[in-house]
Amino acid sequence: MFKLLDGKEVASKVRLGLKEEVTKLKEENIIPKLAVIMVGNDSASQIYVRNKSKACEEIGIEFEEFLLDENTSQEELLELIDTLNNKKEVNGILLQSPIPKHLDINEAFRRISPEKDVDGFNPVNVGKLTLGQNGFVSCTPSGVIKILEEYNIDIEGKNAVVLGRSNIVGKPMSQCLLNKNATVTICHSKTRNIENITKNADIIVAAIGKKEFVKENMVKEGAVVIDVGINRGEDGKLKGDVDFENVSKKASYITPVPGGVGPMTVAMLMNNVVKAAKEQNN
Ligand code: NAP
Repeated sequence: MFKLLDGKEVASKVRLGLKEEVTKLKEENIIPKLAVIMVGNDSASQIYVRNKSKACEEIGIEFEEFLLDENTSQEELLELIDTLNNKKEVNGILLQSPIPKHLDINEAFRRISPEKDVDGFNPVNVGKLTLGQNGFVSCTPSGVIKILEEYNIDIEGKNAVVLGRSNIVGKPMSQCLLNKNATVTICHSKTRNIENITKNADIIVAAIGKKEFVKENMVKEGAVVIDVGINRGEDGKLKGDVDFENVSKKASYITPVPGGVGPMTVAMLMNNVVKAAKEQNN
């Protein structure tokens, strides 16, 4: 019988801990603050930003949103980032993606001061993760590690297979697992015979954005299955990258969608903002 990895529960535990920490910081006149930049009015982004704002409010983190017109120039975007980099009261800066195609998001990520880069997308923080140094780690992968740790699931020495190699999930996820001493294999769209690879995995992390891609025959008995994917089914309901109904018959642990990795991403963002506030105030 599989055990459900309840991301909602772990996330609320993380948030509760952060709330207590923020209360203590406020006694020292430190109020963590997150600034979120949104360019244009992508409807999904609006929901994500609202969720982040609600989480900040619940924990006691100050939140400020900067809404830029979709015709904003690269110079204007960089100027705003520079202003926020220089504002002492802003501890974390997040640029909500996607941004309009005429803008260079990588240049914008590079411009965010590494000390305020709570999404962990600045190359300095990506490099630190690779080198195993203290920095900001992308929130979804660090959320996955947190779930595994909360359920006392051993990572060391395990065969971990990550499906997907994006800069925001797959690559940092693989690095996080490697840093925890797993033996990591990364699969992507050019990988051949994926099922031969996943069948040997003790831990599978699926982050490809293909509805129910991971089937029962791709998973070994007793594997730990983490589903990062968020896909909309024909019925309008959210579906993961894993065929939950059938894969759960073989898995020892499995995350649901929704209620698995998703809530952890916001919780780890909050964690990064509090970490930034503490580090900036020594
Ligand atoms: P992405 O940038 O589109 O990357 C998808 C990755 O999957 C790419 O590396 C791609 O390979 C690989 N891929 C695509 N089709 C494949 C196939 N048939 N077999 C093997 N690999 C394949 O996506 P992302 O931003 O990483 O997001 C992945 C999923 O996670 C999406 O559903 C997204 O909505 C979700 N997500 C969830 C959270 C959360 O908080 N739960 C956060 C972020 C993302 P190539 O590199 O070869 O193209």
